[in-house]
Amino acid sequence: MRAHRLIAATFTLVATIALTLTASADCRNSGSFDSWLKGFEQEALGQGISRRVVSEALDGLTYDPRVIRFDRRQGVFSQTFLEFSGRMVSGYRLRIGKKKLRQYARVFDRVERRFGVPREVITAFWALETDFGANMGKFSTLRSLATLAYDCRRPEIFRPQLMDALRVVQRGDLPVSEMVGAWAGEVGQTQFLPSDYYARAIDFDGDGRRDLRHSVPDVLASTANMLAHFGWRRGEPWLQEVKVPARMDWKEAGIDITHPRSFWAAEGVTRPDGRRIKADGFPASLLLPMSRNGPAFLAYANFQPFLQWNQSLVYVATAAYLATRFVGAPKVSPGRAPVDSLSVAEIKELQRLLERDGYDVGGVDGTIGSATRAAVKAIQIKLGLPADAYPDKEFLQRLKAM
Ligand code: CA
Repeated sequence: MRAHRLIAATFTLVATIALTLTASADCRNSGSFDSWLKGFEQEALGQGISRRVVSEALDGLTYDPRVIRFDRRQGVFSQTFLEFSGRMVSGYRLRIGKKKLRQYARVFDRVERRFGVPREVITAFWALETDFGANMGKFSTLRSLATLAYDCRRPEIFRPQLMDALRVVQRGDLPVSEMVGAWAGEVGQTQFLPSDYYARAIDFDGDGRRDLRHSVPDVLASTANMLAHFGWRRGEPWLQEVKVPARMDWKEAGIDITHPRSFWAAEGVTRPDGRRIKADGFPASLLLPMSRNGPAFLAYANFQPFLQWNQSLVYVATAAYLATRFVGAPKVSPGRAPVDSLSVAEIKELQRLLERDGYDVGGVDGTIGSATRAAVKAIQIKLGLPADAYPDKEFLQRLKAM
């Protein structure tokens, strides 16, 4: 399994790793960091990392308590799609993004020819991850990863990341002094974890090094390569805003349910301005990030690579939406009516109630994942409510009264 992508750009607070954390959060480290590090150095030498790189990268490295504090303090992602996208898809970011698209037009031409990933999609991740390289983080990657690999909670995720960080150094992509980034180990202008860096980074400016910190051509090609690896389909759309009717079969909505576009057209789904959508056989899912009353999109097969980039649906929907804005789509409609979204505390309350009623929600974590959505939908169907799988305040009240 690919390690969860750990968003750590300065302005985001996604708790993707918190999901894997619950089971072992109370564990204790037995030995000292120094003795752990010696053991890791031996393993690295055994895996073909040179003595010179091991020594330069790891000798004298110390445990960084700030990293663990950040890790433990990670808030869950409690913003709604409209809140998050409203903040992230700012006039400033759109303006800079369009400038970058012009500035690097020829590089993008080459990237699109080779990888088939549209420039606007790459630019959306470039914008959201680091504001086009402006906020790549200031943590020592090796120190952060050693700290997280030593920590007893998730060594199986971070130990291989640390090893691959050494491989990146050994390959000559970045010197130890440049292995700097987010607190959880991501490096470069689109925040690659070292294992992705090692496996997917591309030298696109031809200087012999894969440099995701300083070389924009390397960054753009590597990001495209990552998305191609996630299954990007050349020439196909990823997201299209739509308008949903006041009544339809809501239980068909959700990114895990796919129908031909003709199905959605027959249900009354239209373009935002009311014009008809193509009623063909092209497969699409209806994405309602804030219930049937909020914004609505058709998500296509190319939405899947977004979902693999990050586990937060709100982040992913925002990235996909931002990419459509770079193409020229208008600002998203807030939908039919204001949506009463739940706070993190209320989501936890909801999850406890769902567990009380025998639903497996994958743990009370304050994050609405697919298990929670499925449980909400099952109850909505049972109660004869519109089954859009979105729990709002009214739904929570109904559940409490049950
Ligand atoms: Ca290069």
